[in-house]
Formats: sequence, C-alpha cells, structure tokens
Amino acid sequence: MSQIAKVETFILSIPRTTPYLGPLGPGERVNSRGYLVRKGNGTLYPTVDRSVVVRLTTEDGAVGWGETYGICAPRAVCEIIHDLLAPELIGREPEDVEQVWDDLYGLMRVRGCFGGFHVDTIAALDIALWDLRARARNVPLWTLLGERQHDAIPGYLSGLPAATLEAKLAMARDFAALGHTAFKVHAVVSHDGIVEEMAALRQALGPDAELMVDLHWKFTCEQALDLARQLAPHDMKFIEAPLKPEDVQGLIALGSRSPIPIAAGEEWHTEYEARLRLAGNTLSYIQPEMGHTGITQFLRITRLANAHGVQIAPHATIGGGLFMAASLHATAVTPGLWRHEWQHSIFSRSLEMLDTDMAYRDGHYHLPTGNGLGAVPGPAFWDHAEWVG
Ligand code: MG
Repeated sequence: MSQIAKVETFILSIPRTTPYLGPLGPGERVNSRGYLVRKGNGTLYPTVDRSVVVRLTTEDGAVGWGETYGICAPRAVCEIIHDLLAPELIGREPEDVEQVWDDLYGLMRVRGCFGGFHVDTIAALDIALWDLRARARNVPLWTLLGERQHDAIPGYLSGLPAATLEAKLAMARDFAALGHTAFKVHAVVSHDGIVEEMAALRQALGPDAELMVDLHWKFTCEQALDLARQLAPHDMKFIEAPLKPEDVQGLIALGSRSPIPIAAGEEWHTEYEARLRLAGNTLSYIQPEMGHTGITQFLRITRLANAHGVQIAPHATIGGGLFMAASLHATAVTPGLWRHEWQHSIFSRSLEMLDTDMAYRDGHYHLPTGNGLGAVPGPAFWDHAEWVG
C-alpha cells in the first residue's frame, strides 16, 4: 500500500432535544459553553452529540475513516492530531498500524499522556488505518481481525432517559413489550434513589429481565459494597463503574467482596490500564470503548480479558457511528462476548449520518457488509460536520 499523505479532521455535532442521560434535574444548568455538570456524578456533559472524525488519504488517493470522542473540547482533539500526530503519521504505511499505534503513544509517554485526549486521537487514526487496510483488500474489516465468532451481536438496552420514575418504568415496559430483555440504567444521575429505582424496575419488568446499573465512578469501595448489598435482593446482572477510576486496588477489593458481579473499563484506553485491573482476577465483565481504544487496543484488551476468563460487554457512547461500526467489527471476532451496549437514543441518529447497512433489530446488532468499516459519511454528515483542517 502507499503511504499516508494527508490527515484531515472534522467536528460532527448532532443536536438533541433531551440532554444525554435525561432532562436537567434540580440544580443542573447549561453553562455559557453549552455544557452541564451532572449533580449525580460531578461530570461534564455537552448538550449536543459531538465527535471528531478523521479522514486519512494515501499517496495513491485511497481514503480511510476514523472517529473518536469529541464530546468535550473537540478542538483540543483536532489540535493534538494536527500539531503532534499528523507529522509523524504522514509517510507511514497503513500495514504497520499496530507499530504506528505504539509509536504515536510513545511520543507523549514520558509526559504522562496515558489516556485522555492524547490516546483518543490515536484511536481515531488507528481506526482509519485499519479501514484503509481492509478497503485495499476489498474485504470487510472484521476479516483482518480474527475468526468470526458471532453472526449477529446481541445487545442490551442502555438508558431510560425520562424525567420521572413513572415515565422510566413506562419506557422500560414499552421496550420489554418489543422483546428487549436486558436493561441498564444510569440511576446514579437520576433523582429517585438508586435502590428505589432498581427495585421499581425489577417489579415492573418481572423476574426474568436482566438488570444492570451504571454507578458512574461515584463511590468509595465501602460505599459501593454497602450499595451492592442493598441491591442484591433485586437480582442485578452487574454493577458498572462503581469506584473512582483511580482506585485500582479498591476496584479489585470490591470485586472480591461484592454480592453482585462488577463491570468496568469503559474509560480505559490501553492494555496497560486493563492489565492493572485484571490482575486481581475479581472483575466479571470488561467494557472496552472503541472511541478510546481504537481497534489495536480493543483487540489487545479483549485478549487479556479472555486470558483472565472475564466476559466482554463492549461499551457504546456518543458518536457519529463510525467508531460504533469499528466496535462491531472487532466484537464480531471476540470470544467471551456477553452483549454489546445499545444506546438507543444515539445509535439510530448516528445511522442517519452514514451510508451503511449497519443495523440494530430484534435485540441484535447486524454488522455492515461493505468493505472496510462498511460505513462512510453520508449526505446528512456533511450538513452537521465542520472541517477543521
Ligand atoms: Mg457506563
């Protein structure tokens, strides 16, 4: 293949009527830059769905697409790509994608850039390099990643973004009537009480539904253990992200003591973060996020999880659908899969941005069938995208 000749970035902004994770609660307000801080977890969220998309072009004119997080400070993501990474990427071969990931990560290692914006940007470039490799062979991306393990990929419903508990229960019942059987809620940012909300959902959905709760990194180990004991009677499949992400030893300790299995890992960017937390052998599920990991690290992290016998439940988040497509390709070759998260309030709108046959129906994701990612920006993308450089 020919070498990378051009690196371009786009900020994709998709308006939404209801803020992510539900309507504003008491004491929550949108600031002058369009962000709000959720009282429940003290975390900053934008009021639009936003991501950063990259387009790589080779010397012979071939194009590859990638995407990463751009929900906060998307211009910082673009600046890192153009100022730090593009000069080192131009002239490299897409075939060397794994070595490219290691080299780009290494550029900022000694400055403590082990995740965050820096590694997000590498994820976008990594996805685009893999897309180029697969397109050059006229094959779907998954064929380069391993043996196909799953035809359709089972999903689970994530989020019931309604203002009141009654409205959430009604939404859950509606989804159950459509055949959905696994539900995760973000009770920590709602205002009804975590245990109260899960008890009400169990009551509404009956004993056979699989229920999970996302705790958004809020608690100490002892607080989370107390909460898990209160939740245990309501038969939870897992509790997610219970502790502040820095508390590695606390997470491992909680896993050994909690009556409910622990899921973690959506904020991890690399195998290095995964290895520290898997070493305790107490996690039950890991949740790699393609928008942070790119394909190279998604594969390395899931292989580590396989070696530890940990089930894999890939994360889904705000994006324009390109890293979602990448996540499905990588998940399709991943052994030890439980279910892939389905953010229903985001996925259907991201499809509108793309030219793709990727779909979610009957509780399953269906991979796009075209070459490479099987997804490229469509007409609506160009209405919502700003070319940054
Ligand atoms: Mg989560």
